[in-house]
Order: sequence, then C-alpha cells, then structure tokens
Amino acid sequence: MVDIEPIPLAQLTTLRTGAAPVRMIDAHTTGELVAALREAWVDGHPVLVLGGGSNLFVGDESFDGIVVRILTSGIERMPSPRPGYVRLRAQAGHDWDDLVAFAVLEGLGGIEAMSGIPGTVGAAPVQNIGAYGQEIVQTLVEVELIDESTGDVSTVSVEELGLGFRTSVLKHHYGSVPERSAVILSVTLELAVAGHSDGPVVGDQLRTALGLEPGASASLGWVRDRVLATRRRKGMVLDPDDPDTYSAGSFFQNPIVSASFARTLPAECPRWPMTPDLDPVLVIPLASYEGYVPPSAVRESEVKVSAAWLIEHSGLRKGFKLPRSRAALSSKHALALTNRGGATAAELAQLARFIQGRVQSEFGLILQPEPVLVGVEL
Ligand SMILES: Cc1cc2nc3c(=O)[nH]c(=O)nc-3n(C[C@H](O)[C@H](O)[C@H](O)COP(=O)(O)OP(=O)(O)OC[C@H]3O[C@@H](n4cnc5c(N)ncnc54)[C@H](O)[C@@H]3O)c2cc1C
Repeated sequence: MVDIEPIPLAQLTTLRTGAAPVRMIDAHTTGELVAALREAWVDGHPVLVLGGGSNLFVGDESFDGIVVRILTSGIERMPSPRPGYVRLRAQAGHDWDDLVAFAVLEGLGGIEAMSGIPGTVGAAPVQNIGAYGQEIVQTLVEVELIDESTGDVSTVSVEELGLGFRTSVLKHHYGSVPERSAVILSVTLELAVAGHSDGPVVGDQLRTALGLEPGASASLGWVRDRVLATRRRKGMVLDPDDPDTYSAGSFFQNPIVSASFARTLPAECPRWPMTPDLDPVLVIPLASYEGYVPPSAVRESEVKVSAAWLIEHSGLRKGFKLPRSRAALSSKHALALTNRGGATAAELAQLARFIQGRVQSEFGLILQPEPVLVGVEL
C-alpha cells in the first residue's frame, strides 16, 4: 500500500467535482487493500473507497479522511459445476468493460449487454449495474469481501447481497447508511459458453434497443458492438472529447411506483413491469402433462417509470442549464447531469434540486439520485 500525494477528486470522478482529500492511499494488490482498510478502520478514520469514480457525486469541501483507490486487476477462468457454463473471477479494481470484452472474446455470454458501463468490477455489484434488461445479479455467483465490523475477509454468495434495482446491502443510498459496510475484493460470475456464432438475443429491452425482432439471432461480438454504438450516441460511454460524458451516467433513478400510481401518469410515459426482463419459459414435466397449459398468474405489480421522460415532460429539455451555471443536462440524454467545464458540486446540486422540484410539481414524484453522494446534499 502506498500513501500518495492526494489528487483532487475532480480528476478522479467522472462528474469532475471535489477537492483533494486529507489522505490518499493506492492499493495495487488485494493484500495492500486489506491492510489499508484494516488500519484505517481500527484508527477510526472516515474511508472513501474509490473505483472508477463514475458513480460518485463529491462535494466541494475536502474529504476529511482517507480515500483508498482500488487498483487491483486480473481475471481468472475457472470451471463451473453447471454444464455449459464457465466461471470468471475478476479482481475488484479491474475495469468492468475490459471484463466484458474478455468474456465476449472467450465466447462467454451473460454480460455483453452491459458493454461500455464505466467503472470497476468491484463496484458493479454495489448498485447491481445493468443496461438493456441485463443486470449483474443474473450472472453473479459470489464475491470476496472484507467487513468493516470485523475486519474479516469472507466469501459471500449473491443471495446474501440483497441485489435489487440499482441497489444492494452494500450501497450507500442518499440519506441512509449501507446495511452492510464492506468492501468487495473480487467478483465471480457464471457465464454461458455461447461461442462466436449467432445465438438467440434474450430480452425484450435489449432486442428493442438494438432494433431486433423477437426471435432474432446475433453473435455476442455483434451485440457488444451495437450496444457500444447505441450508448455512444447517448453520451453513455466515457469520452474525454465529449462533455456530455462528464457525468455520473443516469443522475436520477427510474422511480418504482405501484401499478395504481403509474396509472395516474400520462399514458405516454414509458414504463416497465418490475419482473426480470427474460423470455418466460414454462416447463411442464412430460409425466405430469395432461394436455393443458395453465395461464400465467397475474399479480398486482410494481412498475418502473422513465425518469428521463418525466424530466423532459416537466419542461426541461436536453441541454437545459440554469443562468450562469456550468452544469447542464446532457444534450443527448435528459437523465444525465453534466459538468460543462469547471462546474462546482454546488452548481450541479442546484441543477439537481431544480429538476427534482419541477418533476415533483408536475407529477407528484420526488426523483432520487442514483450516484453515491459524498459531502454534498440535495
Ligand atoms: C457515462 C456513464 C454511463 C453509465 N452507465 C451506467 C449504466 O448503464 N448502468 C449502470 O448500472 N451504471 C451506469 N453508470 C454508473 C457507474 O458506471 C456504475 O455504477 C459503476 O459500477 C461505478 O463503478 P466505479 O468503479 O466507477 O465506482 P465508484 O464511483 O468509484 O464508486 C461508487 C460507490 O461504490 C463504492 N465502491 C467502489 N468500489 C467498491 C468496492 N470494491 N467494494 C465496495 N464498494 C465499492 C464507492 O465507495 C462508492 O460508494 C454510468 C456512469 C457513467 C459516468
């Protein structure tokens, strides 16, 4: 573990805000990471664990504690007990998109729709990253983590992590503390051996986003390329030459509301049922098949509604900014707050509060931030 001259967090976060913290440590190996965390926790210092800084909104004041940068890397291929599957274990600091690229090259399916999501592997389960109907919960087997309460390292199964829509027991949600304060050291995924030829493209959201018909086939490489191109058009792939990507991705979560509340919103507001976006398959064992296929059970469900639509239909167009502010909505995506160059956290927070106010007065919903807020309030 190496104590380094603290770097301003504006240089290490994609929203580009934040001063240099009091202390900064670089952890290049898991051993260094564990040692740094144990020492900081025992001494009672506030700790901010930093991956790619792409899901953080950091305030303008200096963080009064230790920022631990996770710089570990490496991918290991392992057999799976499940026929037709392979496991990949990646170190927490490994670049997420590099892991996706590796899986696609190896012909392993299950994460290709999450191509281009910035950040590290270790942060991916923290908010159960997802795109186009694919989420890490669908392929995650277990993580190796270190708990703050004991300083112990253990292997924890996906079931114990409470992964839900952009959440887990490890996530620091705005206004609350994580249910379990722990740092992920490595992540193990189970991926299907799909090869390089065309196969079924699973999931309605993914097919729609890629302009495919139900039943369409494509290779993993084709899906990855199309996803990257689609994301680039929306400013959702980091690009130093494109200020629309100086963001934390979606700044607000798509609200999850009851089906009855969703009916009070205009019919044009896009919405998705909160069931996994997989093609349903009903398996009836041959021995018990009596020539009758039962109808699927219908239950009152929750509905995810489009925050981008709510923002645009509360009168705030893409590119919107307050007078004299250097913070603006992305010109490509109404859900991304962007730093147009030198914006302070205060300017971004002012824009965020303005948007929340407009959406609340139009539609009666308070949008919740998706990034983790450190030293800044809305
Ligand atoms: C342009 C853009 C597009 C994006 N698109 C998407 C998208 O499509 N889908 C999506 O889900 N997200 C998206 N995001 C958000 C972001 O990329 C993900 O949340 C990503 O997983 C964050 O990883 P990170 O390493 O940058 O985390 P950081 O921002 O460094 O950290 C985020 C939080 O996780 C904690 N943390 C980091 N590493 C660990 C660890 N090893 N163990 C425990 N806690 C840890 C940090 O302390 C912090 O609280 C996007 C962001 C940007 C900027």
